[in-house]
Amino acid sequence: MNKRDKIIEYLTSVFPSAKCELNGETPFQFLVSVILSAQCTDKRVNMITPTLFAKYSTPQDFIRAEIKDVENIIRPCGFYHNKAKNIFLLSHTLIDRFNGVVPNTLDELMSLPGVGMKTAKVVLGFVFNKNVMAVDTHVLRVSNRLGIVDEKNPDKCSILLEKYFKNDVQKLHHRLVLFGRYICKAISPKCNECELKSICKFYREVKNVSRQS
Ligand code: SF4
Repeated sequence: MNKRDKIIEYLTSVFPSAKCELNGETPFQFLVSVILSAQCTDKRVNMITPTLFAKYSTPQDFIRAEIKDVENIIRPCGFYHNKAKNIFLLSHTLIDRFNGVVPNTLDELMSLPGVGMKTAKVVLGFVFNKNVMAVDTHVLRVSNRLGIVDEKNPDKCSILLEKYFKNDVQKLHHRLVLFGRYICKAISPKCNECELKSICKFYREVKNVSRQS
């Protein structure tokens, strides 16, 4: 079995039902949830969005809202000034350029205020079921450690991973995130219980260093 298949098989066996944990009943609400999730946990975002979307559920609602009220609701997610500002600008742009509808192409999504490649690909994958790899801190770390890529730029890493895995990339994204969160952690990765040791560049290098010392 080649390296790619081994990674896919292992991640699928450990996280068979991995999926996006953010909530949102419409593409717009989901996009707002993704924006709120920057530097914040999905769990915390899901705690505040029911209140937020009960009051403001469409771009039209947000452009009529008092920014202070939106800030107060989203405050627990952190960076609430910036996030509220981005949601307002995003709402205006969607209405002005896209008839209030969330677009379904990478370039159009990335032209929206506050939407970078990672956010755009999370939306493309979850809402529009496109075969894309959003790269967050976990995916970036794990893919470099495994030696799939040698690339610190998340956007470039995303393109390399899409070429490497080719199919079912979106499901792999969720599995890589969970793998990075719970096993291949930033500090103290659980290498002893990881079945990818034999193909892991990071593990090989760390082991060599400890042998030499
Ligand atoms: S062996 Fe360790 S560093 Fe390598 S993928 Fe597994 S947990 Fe991560």
